Amino acid sequence: MSDSTERVKCLIIGSGPAGYTAAIYAARANMEPVLYQGTQPGGQLTTTTEVENFPGYPEGITGPEMMMELKAQAERFETDVRDGWITKVDFSGSVHKVWVNDAKEIHCDTVIISTGATAKYLGLESEQKYLKLGGGVSACAICDGFFYKGQDVVIVGAGDSACEEAHYLSKLCKKVTMLVRRDVFRASKIMANRVKNTENIEIMFNTNAIEVLGDGQVVTGVHVRNNVNGKEKELQATGFFVAIGHKPNTDIFKDYLDLDETGYIINKPGTSKTNVEGVFVSGDAADHVYRQAVTAAGTGCMAALDAERYLAAKDADFEVSTSTYN
Ligand code: NDP
Repeated sequence: MSDSTERVKCLIIGSGPAGYTAAIYAARANMEPVLYQGTQPGGQLTTTTEVENFPGYPEGITGPEMMMELKAQAERFETDVRDGWITKVDFSGSVHKVWVNDAKEIHCDTVIISTGATAKYLGLESEQKYLKLGGGVSACAICDGFFYKGQDVVIVGAGDSACEEAHYLSKLCKKVTMLVRRDVFRASKIMANRVKNTENIEIMFNTNAIEVLGDGQVVTGVHVRNNVNGKEKELQATGFFVAIGHKPNTDIFKDYLDLDETGYIINKPGTSKTNVEGVFVSGDAADHVYRQAVTAAGTGCMAALDAERYLAAKDADFEVSTSTYN
């Protein structure tokens, strides 16, 4: 270990609800956590406007405000919150090594991964414009569907997520138009059938969104094209939902941790433990099913408790082995 190498008991990677909750628990357990925020401090919630489904906020709260409060709560217990991006790890030894911005090396007794997942978007300029404005583009129907009660919305995608979200939206919205780029669903039969059998969901097969229309502030419609006959159409809608999958932010761990075929970290059932001792995972990096702020926070708590127990067991071993030589 060189002079510039730092040693920490608990390193938390990521600053969404999972990371900050892990930090609150780890700090209160005297683990002196160091948390690296990553390139999107606050995580996915900083791209959301109103959060109404996180318990404890009866009037709702904006995503960025909620993340500032979580950060303040973690810092109140002296979590060391730092700017920086973990670019490399080495989990091959008993001490886990991580590198910040390809430069600073840290040796960690425990690592809690809370790097989240990134929703995929189509990449249309108009889609990104209204996403940034908070004006009607969303990748989370459960988070934002409520704001479109009684309105017409469009959703893109044909997997299980798109079907689940279209069905969820159909209970709130007047009409849901689903854009499927091929002539078949990717989703399981049962999910696809549920969508097909829902009266206020219209499915447009072989159809791509080519532009999200708006008045400069909010979405007013979607320009679509049939990719078989080339026919174009403008659909009226106030919400544009994208449900074409997520990419877990786990690339740097792939040489050491067990990942599923999409890249989600595989945790030991009912725990936050990974296949490497002392490395724990929380939040969307291991969750393709629930993906909610509150579930991420819950697993952040689990990861800190698992890390604390791991350290306590290690310390106990250390005491046993030293006393043997006394
Ligand atoms: P998937 O990768 O399964 O599906 C993505 C969908 O988006 C596909 O239909 C794909 O089309 C479509 N798509 C991708 N890119 C574009 C694009 N540029 N334009 C238009 N459409 C596009 O992702 P999901 O999030 O749906 O599911 C991820 C995993 O989670 C799956 O294993 C799924 O089974 C699981 N899951 C399970 C649930 C449950 O059991 N309740 C609920 C939600 C997810 P195409 O088919 O043409 O490739």
